Amino acid sequence: MPDALPILRVAVPAPLYRLFDYLPPSGELWSLPPGVRLRIPFGRTQAVGVLMEVAWTSELAPGKLKSIVGVLDTEPVLPQQAMALAQWVSAYYHYPIGEVIDNMLPPSLRRGQAAQLQMQQRWRLTEAGTQLHPETLARAPRQVELLRLMQRSGGSLAPGLSKEWYATFKALAAKGLAEIAEAMPTTVQAPQVMVDMPTLNAAQQVAVTQITASLSAYNTFLLDGVTGSGKTEVYLRAIEPVIQAGGQALVLVPEIGLTPQLISRFRDRFPVPLAILHSALSDKERLQAWLMARDGLAPIVLGTRSSIFTPLRNPGLFIVDEEHDLSFKQQEGLRYSARDIAVVRAMRAKVPVVLGSATPSLESIHNVNIQRYQHISLPQRAGGAAPPTLGVVDMRKQPVQNGLSAALLHSMRKHLDAKGQVLLFLNRRGYAPILVCHGCGWIAECRQCDARMTVHWAKQTLVCHHCSAQRRIDAQCPKCKENELRPLGQGTERVEEYLQQVLGQTPIVRIDRDSTRRKGSMQRIIDDIHKGEPRVLVGTQMLAKGHHFPHVTLVGIINADQGLFGVDFRASERMAQLITQVSGRAGRAERPGQVLIQTYQPEHPLLRLLLKEGYAKFAQAMLLEREQAALPPYASLALLRAEANDVESCMVFLNQAKGLSAALGTDGVDILGPVPALMTRRAGRFRAQLLVSAVQRKDLHRLLSVWIPAVQTLKASKKLRWSLDVDAMETV
Ligand code: ADP
Ligand code: ZN
Ligand code: ZN
Repeated sequence: MPDALPILRVAVPAPLYRLFDYLPPSGELWSLPPGVRLRIPFGRTQAVGVLMEVAWTSELAPGKLKSIVGVLDTEPVLPQQAMALAQWVSAYYHYPIGEVIDNMLPPSLRRGQAAQLQMQQRWRLTEAGTQLHPETLARAPRQVELLRLMQRSGGSLAPGLSKEWYATFKALAAKGLAEIAEAMPTTVQAPQVMVDMPTLNAAQQVAVTQITASLSAYNTFLLDGVTGSGKTEVYLRAIEPVIQAGGQALVLVPEIGLTPQLISRFRDRFPVPLAILHSALSDKERLQAWLMARDGLAPIVLGTRSSIFTPLRNPGLFIVDEEHDLSFKQQEGLRYSARDIAVVRAMRAKVPVVLGSATPSLESIHNVNIQRYQHISLPQRAGGAAPPTLGVVDMRKQPVQNGLSAALLHSMRKHLDAKGQVLLFLNRRGYAPILVCHGCGWIAECRQCDARMTVHWAKQTLVCHHCSAQRRIDAQCPKCKENELRPLGQGTERVEEYLQQVLGQTPIVRIDRDSTRRKGSMQRIIDDIHKGEPRVLVGTQMLAKGHHFPHVTLVGIINADQGLFGVDFRASERMAQLITQVSGRAGRAERPGQVLIQTYQPEHPLLRLLLKEGYAKFAQAMLLEREQAALPPYASLALLRAEANDVESCMVFLNQAKGLSAALGTDGVDILGPVPALMTRRAGRFRAQLLVSAVQRKDLHRLLSVWIPAVQTLKASKKLRWSLDVDAMETV
């Protein structure tokens, strides 16, 4: 017998930068593999932790060690690579390992439920059905189709949606070719139609060949293709050989990009189990999809940001669609970038990763410039649609009503007369951004934030878009008591109302977070648009992503100036991406599209560059500016943020933190601040920050890895909320 019990080092979801030591249950010697979940006493309650390692010594005195309550798994719930990834994420984002692991697990596993797949009834081919050549059933074409489908999908299908196939299945069953069986759950459903694959154009062919040429080696490809150039088709073709070889593909899309159309494109192409992970799943569904991915039962995993943490038994390919999209960066808690983690995972698994976008982030373009990533370009629209023509409307020289210039209205009428659809983009929902008193100039402000309330006219409310506070629209000015309150400026609601007046019977639809709040309503609106019913679409950036609107021939950008004067150093990059993305919605089919951009700054050099030379040239010019200013991607940065009931507490804490850093050696690192955040008060809390940057990433991380645990020990840190945001996307 060894003279000491082994010590179990456990990762616990708690904001502490260390593991916690426990003893195995009294008297028993366990040899547990890392990765199993343990139920442990924690403080006054119990918690679920994950065993990281077994050791023979502890810093705690033997008498102080507690025994675990129980072991929840016989097999590690997180495989070895996932544990290693967790360590990497914890080190890179300087976030407690226990919290990182907690982020990686589906909610039901966090709560300690069993990591078990539920069996499901499935349609399965019998031995005879597996052997039979489908053509033998030539007189029953539906049966041929179903038999072929089931043979292609490994012999079984989940009945799922395929009610209309039930009769066909029964017919096969009557012939002894198929039967009902219990099997692993999958989401394979009989496709509605068997689709023909389009013939790839030359550029797509090159892209697919390049990606699939070295499927067993790490490589990051930037698939730089204009909207509608057939990037999704390239993904599908690249996935094919991966799953044929028994590998798995993980495809990340922005939240808004995970549409039923996209899902059915994957379903129709690959009759294999698909694990789909998004925020609307129930905990039970999420666990099933997660387990199927982890255990290699789902060859394709399709999901939004958090699905980047899904373990894969046989990773073969990673894909990030719309890689520039902000939704890949988590903005609270563990502030990770799913895109960046995809690259890291591909590197560790020695497989390719494809980052696709029509407007790549400057980070990715920079990585191409320094030959870290390989550039693949799809310069033309698939199916031969012509690119839209871009034009500027100089707002200074003409009548403007409700934000719409006479020139834009005139163009709209022309396109509507020619039976085209018109898309108007305005990055502001609600009726008007300001409620002002015409008598005394009073402006309605949020009581919780340093911000103005947005007028929502239909609901007669004022809404704060930063903290969601709401109140009735004041009847009279609280300052001068006159009934002179008026909405100022335009939101989508007001533009819609105005257009309804001037365009009479023309059907108009508004697409923003307010009009699509109800489940499924976005889908209904999109379907209507595809049928060509609404003639005018007015919407926010919800319109800029993922959707194909083949009937749209005119795109109007109502206010391009917002992005030109943003405070964040990324504001102009965002503006260029939005304008380019929205423009890409026009004229996808036979009819060429036109884009009109309203601006009071038609001479603005950045805007001119974008319109004259396109996004790629614009991006190179921006990169030059970033280099001269030593901003990302030519530097690495992190923000230390603090939030408290008063701004002084934030400043005191941040000053102490800054003081600590000096003692730890800040070679190669600049620390700027502390300064109050641009919107100092938000949701009743005051905010301030330190900006930490370094030209060499390793200098930044060397400091953070000792500094952040030290910051945590500061007394002041206990009295407020603070967080570290590595590679922050918003810095003001
Ligand atoms: P992206 O993802 O770049 O926006 P998609 O892959 O969605 O582009 O393709 C845009 C449209 O063109 C889709 O309707 C798609 O089916 C079609 N398409 C893609 N590749 C081809 C091709 N080689 N030939 C004909 N049509 C294609
Ligand atoms: Zn007033
Ligand atoms: Zn507010």
